[in-house]
Amino acid sequence: MSDIAPIRIAGAGPSGFAAAIALARAGRAVEVHEAKRDVGTRFIGDLQIIEAASEREPVPDFLDRIGIARNFYFRPALSATFFDARGAQREIRAASPFGYFIRRGAEKRTLDRGLLAQARELGVDVRFNSRLASDHADIVATGPASPDGLAREMTWRTDDPERVEVYFNHHLAPGGYAYLFILDGIATFGCAIVADFKKIDDYFAHSLAAAQRMHAFVIPSETRTGYSYMNFHLKTHATKAGARYVGEAGGFQDYLFGLGIRYALTSGWLAARSILESRDFDELWRAELAPKQETSLVNRFLYETGGNFGLSMFVRQAAHAKDFQRYLSGWHARTWWKSLLRPVVQRVWRHRGRCQHKPGEHWCRSRDTEIKVPPLGPIV
Ligand SMILES: Cc1cc2nc3c(=O)[nH]c(=O)nc-3n(C[C@H](O)[C@H](O)[C@H](O)COP(=O)(O)OP(=O)(O)OC[C@H]3O[C@@H](n4cnc5c(N)ncnc54)[C@H](O)[C@@H]3O)c2cc1C
Repeated sequence: MSDIAPIRIAGAGPSGFAAAIALARAGRAVEVHEAKRDVGTRFIGDLQIIEAASEREPVPDFLDRIGIARNFYFRPALSATFFDARGAQREIRAASPFGYFIRRGAEKRTLDRGLLAQARELGVDVRFNSRLASDHADIVATGPASPDGLAREMTWRTDDPERVEVYFNHHLAPGGYAYLFILDGIATFGCAIVADFKKIDDYFAHSLAAAQRMHAFVIPSETRTGYSYMNFHLKTHATKAGARYVGEAGGFQDYLFGLGIRYALTSGWLAARSILESRDFDELWRAELAPKQETSLVNRFLYETGGNFGLSMFVRQAAHAKDFQRYLSGWHARTWWKSLLRPVVQRVWRHRGRCQHKPGEHWCRSRDTEIKVPPLGPIV
């Protein structure tokens, strides 16, 4: 072990562990401080997806490149069923995976457990119940600080047949979507919204009832429920007083669908590289992550302003595409017209005043620009 002071990382999520693993592989001493008693405590064993459309590099190659072994549940996503607000049901197929299902939480075979095991094997000193202030950390990987999006999820064990379904309806999930994944005996139902956060339970209940109406499924008495939020902002710097901010703590997220794991892993790995190669972290992430984050802001604008009509078109086009992975890649592509639209969106949606985002000067969205939500009726 080297005699240089250990690198101190606050947060044992994907971004913190990606940094820790890369640093430890290069022979550096690393401490990961986790405020909670275990990894993944904000998750419930739920199924999530590492998306495979925002980059050309396939996810397995990406994980190999950043030195992460696949010692966790990891299953390619090649098909799904999408529903629009009118209940139209469309089958989605992909020639190559549009993502890889993983699980999150403290259980066996989750991404969080797998990363913890890899870090420990490399000699990383992981300390639980240890909250580290950002001014004492070299890398701040503490996750979201305030809600730009909110989700409620439920997970249970099941014998039901496998299904991957996504429900696109702004009325039932304003600005977001609801989803049901049943894979390998695990079911996850979730409702993600970007507006009207106080009514998350109502949106969840209505979305669940709508999904049950489309295609009933069994919910046992024993389920796990969790709430969690996500952060998105655009910044000029993800560094403050020598600390590098990674993952959602640095606002690194895909604003279209809130799929932040790939951003978390990439930004954590870039922070490690910046330390190992004495390079400017801000330059590294700006080159690799800023363009796609900006495009995701425009995508979100289109997603919301198109209303349910726009979502129906999205569902129809996704089903007509021979390869959904390629279709989705098209959304992530930085086109000239999206580049032109981006400053307009930033002006229209600009937040004025204080917010809880860190680390410093940044753009975030005003809550006044939330989509207007019609009242929910009784569940039928
Ligand atoms: C319900 C839900 C579903 C999602 N589904 C998907 C999906 O399918 N695909 C996808 O790509 N993304 C998904 N996301 C987003 C994804 O989970 C996050 O983007 C990702 O976990 C961010 O990783 P992170 O390392 O930045 O933060 P986190 O995973 O939140 O980890 C941060 C850790 O830091 C710890 N911490 C906080 N403060 C301190 C401190 N001061 N000191 C020490 N430790 C601290 C926390 O306890 C936590 O363990 C989902 C999010 C939610 C809420």
